[in-house]
Amino acid sequence: MKQPALKANERELIKLIHFFSKRAQHLIATGELSSEHEQLTTACHNLEQQLLTHAANRAAILDKRERLSKIIEDNAYCPKCQKADMLKRNGTATNEHGWRSNTYRCRRCNTTFTWNRPNNPWDMVPFLELYIRELEQSLETQQNQAVVEHTEEAITQLQDSLSRLKPVLETSNEEVIALDQKEREMDKMIHQFKNYLQIEKIKLDTYQEPE
Ligand SMILES: [Zn+2]
Repeated sequence: MKQPALKANERELIKLIHFFSKRAQHLIATGELSSEHEQLTTACHNLEQQLLTHAANRAAILDKRERLSKIIEDNAYCPKCQKADMLKRNGTATNEHGWRSNTYRCRRCNTTFTWNRPNNPWDMVPFLELYIRELEQSLETQQNQAVVEHTEEAITQLQDSLSRLKPVLETSNEEVIALDQKEREMDKMIHQFKNYLQIEKIKLDTYQEPE
């Protein structure tokens, strides 16, 4: 299994844990392993496993989040020439609702524009909700039956996209909140255990110092 990315405090603790495991192995070899050492070794091993599981879980959640942030495809085209072949994405812009969209430059027309849809699923939800409301309002005054039918069909499709998108985002948001909570607990535990091991190491160094 590939080792998940570790934070600095996690790496430091694992280094200390490895120091104590090595020492325990040495003590086993010389038959000097006391029950106190054994308990410490077990605690170290358990914490290391817990830490690696947490790091793997964090990597999976963040990776999922990263992939989710990229699910929106713009299919943008130039407002002047109506073509997409000379477009180059050159940044992002935030509109009055706080929704982020991609900006593009058309190298044929030498024009820059902001695409008319958000570039991420989180902003896409309120965007779609507003768009659906606008379409529904337009139906109130629409006389042309063909347009009415077309609009109703579009509304159904948009509502369908919305109802598929929303639960995916909710799940991801819940995962991130739970991860933050777990992260705080782990940081606290790492801090305490690291302090404890550092003190043990100092005691050991002092003890082993030749007279
Ligand atoms: Zn163009």
